[in-house]
Amino acid sequence: MEGTRSGGAGDGGFCVCVGCGHREAHLSGVPCRKARCPRCGKAMLREGSPHHQEVMTRRGTGVG
Ligand SMILES: [Zn+2]
Repeated sequence: MEGTRSGGAGDGGFCVCVGCGHREAHLSGVPCRKARCPRCGKAMLREGSPHHQEVMTRRGTGVG
């Protein structure tokens, strides 16, 4: 889909904590990495981002 969009590199989606797996809705204009997990205080990543997938792969011991 093409069209004019206001905002950054995509709106919507979720931020995921790499520590405990907590998910939160991504806030437009606020990078996930700037958000902190409310549960464990660790940095969060954009769900489905290359970085997130890399972390999941590294942690993946028997997952999927
Ligand atoms: Zn967490």
